[in-house]
Amino acid sequence: MSGRPGAVQTGRQACRHVIIGHGPAGLSAAEAIRALDADASITIVSEEPYRFYSRPGLAFYLAKRVPQEQLFSRPDAYYRHWRIDTVHARAEGLDPTARLVHLAGGRLLPYDRLLLATGSAAALPNVPGIDLAGVVTLDSLSDTRTILDAVRQARSAVVVGGGVTALELIVFFWRAASRSITCCAARAIGRRCWTKPNRGWFSSACVTSMSRSTPKPSSARCWGARGAWPA
Ligand SMILES: Cc1cc2nc3c(=O)[nH]c(=O)nc-3n(C[C@H](O)[C@H](O)[C@H](O)COP(=O)(O)OP(=O)(O)OC[C@H]3O[C@@H](n4cnc5c(N)ncnc54)[C@H](O)[C@@H]3O)c2cc1C
Repeated sequence: MSGRPGAVQTGRQACRHVIIGHGPAGLSAAEAIRALDADASITIVSEEPYRFYSRPGLAFYLAKRVPQEQLFSRPDAYYRHWRIDTVHARAEGLDPTARLVHLAGGRLLPYDRLLLATGSAAALPNVPGIDLAGVVTLDSLSDTRTILDAVRQARSAVVVGGGVTALELIVFFWRAASRSITCCAARAIGRRCWTKPNRGWFSSACVTSMSRSTPKPSSARCWGARGAWPA
């Protein structure tokens, strides 16, 4: 990293860019802004206590295939070089008239330009007990740490979902020697994963499946039962 990124501009007040979200979208936007405007002030706000890390890498961290440090691809020098400030706080409100972001804890962050790059989070099924202890999602590094802690004591696991992240979790729980894993998968996505070779592997890993993505309270007793996969 050498030289000052962006063209030299003088004689005007620096534009204050605030980006909410410190994922790839937020970071790429910060780099693009800096490349166009050397004088801009750029602040990235994230509710997470970390700087940019690889979310796809979380499955590898979970599987202990990479250490946590390897998830962080941008050293402090990167932020200094691109002159990007970071704030670790949840954005709780916006005042577009006064151009202020309301941060948790009461702090106000002024901006001239604001970008929302807040990503997405796992969609939680609307079932009773969804907020009980032990129910987790895999969205962030903090979630990954929670899962790693929980699995030390867990004897069984239920994975709700049938996409790639669910499969990664199933592999993880299997390797972590959970006694049984129930996969409650969405029909459309799950069937794609439920291929012939996988089926054999799943049964050796004690994975059972159900065909509905959103278990209804009346069918709650089916959880944990060995269900037949729809033909
Ligand atoms: C386990 C896992 C594995 C994945 N594997 C792959 C893969 O193999 N290939 C692939 O292409 N994609 C993968 N993805 C998806 C990929 O990570 C996302 O598509 C990508 O991170 C989206 O980038 P983003 O910048 O839009 O949002 P995100 O990376 O989700 O970042 C959003 C940021 O906004 C912050 N934020 C949200 N709300 C607020 C708020 N109110 N105040 C402050 N900050 C806030 C969040 O804390 C976060 O820092 C995976 C995701 C996960 C969770």
